[in-house]
Amino acid sequence: MNPVSVSVVIPVYNEEAGLPALFARLYPALDALGVAYEVIFVNDGSRDRSAALLKDQFLARPDVTRVVLFNANYGQHIAIIAGFERVRGERVVTLDADLQNPPEEIARLLVAMDEGHDYVGGVRRAREDAWWRRTASRVMNGLRERITHIRMTDQGCMLRAYSRDIVDAVAASREVSTFIPALAYTYAYSPVEIDVGHEERAAGESKYSLYKLIRLNFDLATGFSLVPLQLFSLFGMLVAAASVVVYAVIVVQRLVTGYGWTALWDRDILEFFLIGVVLFGVGLVGEYVGRIYQQVRDRPRYTVRAVLEREPSEQQ
Ligand code: UDP
Ligand code: MG
Repeated sequence: MNPVSVSVVIPVYNEEAGLPALFARLYPALDALGVAYEVIFVNDGSRDRSAALLKDQFLARPDVTRVVLFNANYGQHIAIIAGFERVRGERVVTLDADLQNPPEEIARLLVAMDEGHDYVGGVRRAREDAWWRRTASRVMNGLRERITHIRMTDQGCMLRAYSRDIVDAVAASREVSTFIPALAYTYAYSPVEIDVGHEERAAGESKYSLYKLIRLNFDLATGFSLVPLQLFSLFGMLVAAASVVVYAVIVVQRLVTGYGWTALWDRDILEFFLIGVVLFGVGLVGEYVGRIYQQVRDRPRYTVRAVLEREPSEQQ
């Protein structure tokens, strides 16, 4: 009954420089699969000519192209959700618009799905990013392994394939800020990883500043784990216990020698440290409270300005 076999979802934010090259490689790669496919581009409030280029592409290949235009920038993961809410295919592939993930690799993801996996994650074999991105990524992957139950080698790689069941579950999750590969993983029953190629950005520059990367990783940590909160209260307990011990020692010393013990560490430094710890803890609690606040407001996660697509009945 389902005419579409594979849906490809691509978030686009200020990618005018790279879109022509993407179209030139993506469509031949998908045509070569020999299955019915659709491509859903989600324009995440680009301020350049991306929307116009997507419209042209829709007019060039209206049979297989759909375009969702947001009215503002909501972030890569919300853009993918908007695609997920509209997919018609039995399998869904996510891909970045910047050609860092070669579209030719989609065929290999689908082979892994043929083998019975419902979640195929890409692992960037030789990653072509700045050294600090690779290092930070390794640290955050390691941290996430420890504090969540999500097991994946390369959380940042968006070249992934999901079964329609998983995609529907992700779309139905009402989370405001989330991390798609991790959320989808929690719904998978047979996840697998394969190595995929990675290239330098074809054109344009990364949309992730250091600040946005830190925000994204906070979303990942607080969205999928309570361990940060639990560790923090554990640490608070240890500090409190230590202070009782120190206090007891000082009292005993005073009684015996008449002098207090003042310089185990320089007191000012210790205070600075502890104030830092407390502020971090308040901020951490704030992360969770902020999530809860966004969630209870229950505003729409995004608003759409326009959708360019043909009705399924118009499809030949
Ligand atoms: N992107 C988006 N909204 C944003 C930031 C990025 O839709 O707010 C898209 C972007 O156009 C690209 C993908 O998400 O298709 C990945 O972004 P980018 O390549 O800048 O990330 P990086 O490869 O540096 O991690
Ligand atoms: Mg990229």
